[in-house]
Amino acid sequence: MNVYADNAATTKMRADALAAYVETAETLYGNPSSLHTAGQDAKTLLEDCRARIAAVLGAKPKEIYFTSGGSEADNQAILSAAHLGKLRGKMKIVSTAIEHHAVLHTLNKLKKEGYEIVLLPVGSDGIVRLSDVEAALDDNTCLVSVMFANNEIGTLQPVEEIGKLCRERKILFHTDAVQAVGHTAVNVGTIGCDYLALSAHKFGGPKGVGALYARTGAPLYSLIEGGAQERGKRAGTEDLPAVRAMTVALEGSVAALPETEKKLTAMRDRLIEGLEKVPHCALNGDRTKRLAGNVSFCFEGIEGESLLLLLDDRGIRASSGSACTSGSLDPSHVLLAIGRVHDVAHGSLRLTLGADNTMEEVEYMIREIPEVIAYLRNMSPVWRDLQEGRRTFIL
Ligand SMILES: *Cc1c(COP(=O)(O)O)cnc(C)c1O
Repeated sequence: MNVYADNAATTKMRADALAAYVETAETLYGNPSSLHTAGQDAKTLLEDCRARIAAVLGAKPKEIYFTSGGSEADNQAILSAAHLGKLRGKMKIVSTAIEHHAVLHTLNKLKKEGYEIVLLPVGSDGIVRLSDVEAALDDNTCLVSVMFANNEIGTLQPVEEIGKLCRERKILFHTDAVQAVGHTAVNVGTIGCDYLALSAHKFGGPKGVGALYARTGAPLYSLIEGGAQERGKRAGTEDLPAVRAMTVALEGSVAALPETEKKLTAMRDRLIEGLEKVPHCALNGDRTKRLAGNVSFCFEGIEGESLLLLLDDRGIRASSGSACTSGSLDPSHVLLAIGRVHDVAHGSLRLTLGADNTMEEVEYMIREIPEVIAYLRNMSPVWRDLQEGRRTFIL
C-alpha cells in the first residue's frame, strides 16, 4: 500500500486545478501588461482570480497581492511593517517560538539590524497564551506575527483574540495562515489582521505561487524591483496559469471544507487512538485544538529519521519534526518549545492527512507503525538502557 501522509509539506495538485493550469497555459499566454487583446484577456483573468480569492478570504480585491508562495508573503509582510516601525521609532516585534522559518529567519535578520524581537513561549499544548501576548505589547511594538496553525504539530493559535489586542493598540498584526487556508475557515475580517500569508501548494494548488493579503492602509514595500505589476508592490510577469490554478484549488477546497474537515477529523482521531497504544509515546500539541489532518507523536527510544526510512519502505510517506535531514542535528524548535527534551524530540513522527486519504490507509498505518517502532527499539542500545533501568523513561 502507498500512503501519502505528508500533506503539510505539500499536497498533490487537485484535478480541477491542474486542468485549469493547463488550459490557461495553452490559451491565455499573453502578458497581462500587454495592451493587445491577448494581454488584456490575460489581465482580465488575473483580476478575476484576485477578486475570487479576495471573496473567499473576506477581503477586497485590491488587498490581494500574488507572490511566489508563503515564504515571500511572510517576508514582505514582516519587512514592510518593520520598515514603517523604524521610521516611527518603534522597533519591537512580538512573535512566537513556534513560527515557520520563513517568519523566524526574517525576524532574526531584523534582530541583527537592531530590532527587539520577542519570541513568546507556548504551553505544553503548543498554543501561545493570550496573557503573554498582551503583556508583551507596548508603545514600541510595531508588529505582532503569530501563525494561524502550526505546520509541525497542527495547533490552532488564538488569532482572533490576538487580532483584537492589536487593533485596540493600533499595532500591525500579521498571521502566517499557510497551513490554515483551504483547511479550515479563514476570514481576514474575523481575524482582524493587517496581513495574511497563504500558499497554493498546501491546498491542492501548484508550487511556487501564493498570496499576501495586506489590508488597505497597511504599509507595503516591494521586495522585488522592476515592472509595475501588483500595483508596484511585486515586480515580475505574473504566473497566470499558477494564479488561476491556485484560485480553482482554493474555491474547490473551501467548498468541500465542511465535508473534508469532518472526514479528516475522524481519520485523525482514529490514528491518534491507534498510535497512542504504543508504549512510551506522547501526542504533540493539543488533542482537539489542531488541524483536522494533523497527527504528531514523539516515541521514546527511537530516531525519527530511521523510522521515516523504514516507513517509506512500507509505502508510508511521513515526516519527522526534526531538522536532521537538512544537515543540522538540532531537533525541531517547535517540539523543544512544547517542552520535549532533545532525546525525545528526535523520536518524532508527523503524519498529515489530506482529502485523498482513506480510513483503510489509516488502519494500515496503525498496523505498520507500531511494528516498525518495536523493531527499531529492539535494536536500540538506548532502549535497552531504558528497559534495564540504566536510564529513566521520560514518556
Ligand atoms: C509551507 C509553509 C510556509 C512556506 O510556504 P512556501 O509556499 O513553501 O514558501 C510558510 N509557513 C508555513 C506555516 C508553512 O507551512
